[in-house]
Amino acid sequence: MPNCPECTARERKKIQAKYEAETVEENRGRDDLFKLFDQVEIPMKMDSATKHFICKRCGLYATREQVSDIKYRLNQKEKTREDKQDDYLEWWQKSKKDKELD
Ligand SMILES: [Zn+2]
Repeated sequence: MPNCPECTARERKKIQAKYEAETVEENRGRDDLFKLFDQVEIPMKMDSATKHFICKRCGLYATREQVSDIKYRLNQKEKTREDKQDDYLEWWQKSKKDKELD
């Protein structure tokens, strides 16, 4: 059964907030966070009559295609935010290097 994309995203946000509150910045690792993310399991139920998946927690009702579509969109949102952070980090490190050269 697929995990509910909405609930999973919400749960991950909570885990991330907790992780960032408990772990000092230099000890944080993306892999550690992803390992925690992998533990999130909110399986949906299959309604065999309508071939739809139902989330008991949030009430999401969707076909397999819709579930993967929502999941994809939520992932994209996450990715864009991370990419922006990476860009910023890169820019920052580069500007630091430039400063050291001067
Ligand atoms: Zn849900």
